[in-house]
Amino acid sequence: MFNIVDLRNDNNQVAANNLYNKLIQRTKSSDGASIMSVVADILENVRKLGDKALKDYSKRFDKADIEEIKVSEAEITAAYAEVDAELLETIKKSKQNIWNFHEKQLQNSWISPNEDGSMLGQLVRPIEKAGLYVPGGTAPLISSVLMTAIPAKVAGVSKIIMCTPPSKDGSVNPAILVAAREAGVDEVYRVGGAQAIAAMAYGTETIPKVDKICGPGNVYVATAKRLIFGECDIDMFAGPSEILVIADSTAKPEYVAADLLSQAEHDMLASSVLITDDESLVKKVAVQIEKQLANLSRKSIIEKSLEDYGFAVLVDNIEQAIEVSNNIAPEHLEICINEPMSMLGLIKNAGAIFVGNYSPEPLGDYMAGPSHVLPTSGTARFSSPVNVDQFLKKSSLIYYNRQALEKTYKDIARFAEAELLDAHANAVKVRFEGENK
Ligand code: NAD
Repeated sequence: MFNIVDLRNDNNQVAANNLYNKLIQRTKSSDGASIMSVVADILENVRKLGDKALKDYSKRFDKADIEEIKVSEAEITAAYAEVDAELLETIKKSKQNIWNFHEKQLQNSWISPNEDGSMLGQLVRPIEKAGLYVPGGTAPLISSVLMTAIPAKVAGVSKIIMCTPPSKDGSVNPAILVAAREAGVDEVYRVGGAQAIAAMAYGTETIPKVDKICGPGNVYVATAKRLIFGECDIDMFAGPSEILVIADSTAKPEYVAADLLSQAEHDMLASSVLITDDESLVKKVAVQIEKQLANLSRKSIIEKSLEDYGFAVLVDNIEQAIEVSNNIAPEHLEICINEPMSMLGLIKNAGAIFVGNYSPEPLGDYMAGPSHVLPTSGTARFSSPVNVDQFLKKSSLIYYNRQALEKTYKDIARFAEAELLDAHANAVKVRFEGENK
């Protein structure tokens, strides 16, 4: 079912590069070029035509005739009646776990006085307006509401708005609305895809322009976020999902197969990679995949995803497995090996790391607490999961008195003159030299 890549005996650098390129390029290659231009057109139309463009795109992509883009408070209140009481309890439990985890990330402002009377510091302030994107194309990602809104709330963001695609009848999934209210989202808009990202970046008649856009989405959403960066900030490139499982002979094939399938079902562009030093495990996992797949409702998405982006990689040992994984920088990394904790020190790049046979990826998707919104397509090399820090910004604070400035003003003037910036030099000299000192 998946593609085999043999990297044993260290003689297959070409295969290693091909694997890397296939995974990393899947959201940007030749297909990606056309995605880029489709998305650029959508952004431009929303910028020019505002709400009208949003309604047109909802009709075209979501087959929905939208009258009111904003979801009313009454609609959100009514949604509670449609949500199962047990699901509501689960949403509340998940919210608490996410809150507890993210609270630990809060940072305080600080001011540090020096002996000469000067003071330096850092003021930590939340951004004012955050825009969240919650996917709803092929699956209503209720949990993504909590995973983006709660870190923003913990950071103290004053206004949190959210966009999510409408169903064909124009409604929004009630559990998404309930999760939004539980998480403290202020406004919900029924708009999906690149057009939603454009609306939050530029503002329309109905949707306010925000300071930062966060949240996962398909390749159109993720590409739109990339393109609007600069109009406002973004969290990261959180595109089609990825899982990479490093397993040895102690791993359970049933579990490994189930976890690979759990990501493949997200998107035909999702990737699922097994890296192992045990050739027999590959066969056992393949058998399990066939068996479990038969009962899964998103079989066709999974089959296509595994066919294109499902890989079993054979390596000589676990150290090599980690090296290959570090190069891929997966969104989700599972380590199903004997004494998995002993290998943590070698892991350099991964969005989230799941350790041992009883930390399956869906635990992180829903209940553990860390945000499940994670960098994809190799961007875990330089970006982090959604976290409180992403909703905070820092201002440096500088206070010098006359005595402290006098001690250093000549250094400042020397720097400024070396840079041919007389006015800079003058701004310190005027305080200590000449008639105005
Ligand atoms: P989505 O809400 O991201 O996308 C649906 C929207 O895509 C539609 O409303 C439509 O506007 C747009 N669209 C669809 N086809 C289009 C086309 N041909 N041209 C232009 N726009 C088009 O929902 P989804 O499709 O179900 O995708 C959810 C994605 O989120 C999956 O790829 C999943 O793997 C990913 N995800 C990522 C993370 C992460 O942290 N990286 C977490 C959860 C989910």
